Amino acid sequence: MASKLDCLIVGGGPAGLTAAIYLARYRRAVLVVDEAKSRCAWIPTSHNLAGFTGGIRGTDLLARIRAQAETYGARVDIGSVTALERLPSDNGFRAALGDGRVVQAATVLLATGVIDGQPAVPHLYDAMQRGLIRVCPICDGFEVMDQRIAVLGHGAQATGEARFIRTYSPYVTLLTLGEPMDLELDARAELDALGIAVVEEPVVAVDTDTDIGTNRSTRLTLQSGRTLRFDTLYSALGITARSALAESLGARMNDEGRLIVDRHQRTSVPGFFAAGDVVSTLNQIAVAMGEAAMAATAIHNDLRCRR
Ligand SMILES: Cc1cc2nc3c(=O)[nH]c(=O)nc-3n(C[C@H](O)[C@H](O)[C@H](O)COP(=O)(O)OP(=O)(O)OC[C@H]3O[C@@H](n4cnc5c(N)ncnc54)[C@H](O)[C@@H]3O)c2cc1C
Repeated sequence: MASKLDCLIVGGGPAGLTAAIYLARYRRAVLVVDEAKSRCAWIPTSHNLAGFTGGIRGTDLLARIRAQAETYGARVDIGSVTALERLPSDNGFRAALGDGRVVQAATVLLATGVIDGQPAVPHLYDAMQRGLIRVCPICDGFEVMDQRIAVLGHGAQATGEARFIRTYSPYVTLLTLGEPMDLELDARAELDALGIAVVEEPVVAVDTDTDIGTNRSTRLTLQSGRTLRFDTLYSALGITARSALAESLGARMNDEGRLIVDRHQRTSVPGFFAAGDVVSTLNQIAVAMGEAAMAATAIHNDLRCRR
């Protein structure tokens, strides 16, 4: 077992890597262990991150933050944390890594993010890079102004997303993929009033390769044989929080499995912090970075007070 870390950061997306920058600059011994499956790596170009006029690719952003963290002495290992236990007498935590290593840390920051429910579409990554499939209208609704947009999903999340997207386009269709909408009459009337079409028929085929000249579009074939064509599809198929480690420690979560934290990102387990999408929060890079800054500063101050 290596010597004890001040902080083990689980997850190396924008939250974990930003916390690593702060902690390394607070002269803390910090290790980031990252499975390298950040949501950020799916972003073709992010246009809403302050300071990047013209946008930045998700993979470029990750590489930059990682290099910045390493400049100050933070270590970033690719791998996974498979188990976490809290040691008795406030002695911190012991973590088991996928490669067999065991590390001990005074504090742990969980920055493991969430996993998007993804539509069954061939070549999904490629379709997302081309902007044919998207997941976050807060992030890129501006880029699809006045386009023909379909929202995939049903229930409150999908209807909420369809209503939000009306900010950007009058051409919005909600595709429930064969699920019944199960809406109260007034909710259905609200969708009608906003001009949002609802299609409850199952989709049997998706073709994301229907470029005509420079016009990219996706063709969907419904069970009846009818085809629909959209410039972009927003997947509103829900998310799953990567919070199994927090659950094993008994940390408080909401009913989506996302961590409940105080305003310094402390979870209900002493010494255990959380930041980014895994927290009950707005899923945005700026928020993940802000929470990471809060968490890292609280961790440093807590450790100073222990001396
Ligand atoms: C297509 C798309 C477009 C988006 N566009 C934008 C945008 O334009 N602007 C914006 O602000 N936001 C955007 N987002 C959202 C943004 O990507 C997330 O809010 C951000 O990545 C959250 O950062 P995070 O560090 O909390 O989680 P993540 O970036 O998901 O990183 C979590 C990391 O933890 C790792 N991990 C999980 N479990 C373990 C474990 N047990 N051990 C080790 N490592 C583990 C994962 O592999 C992953 O690398 C977009 C998301 C998507 C999918």
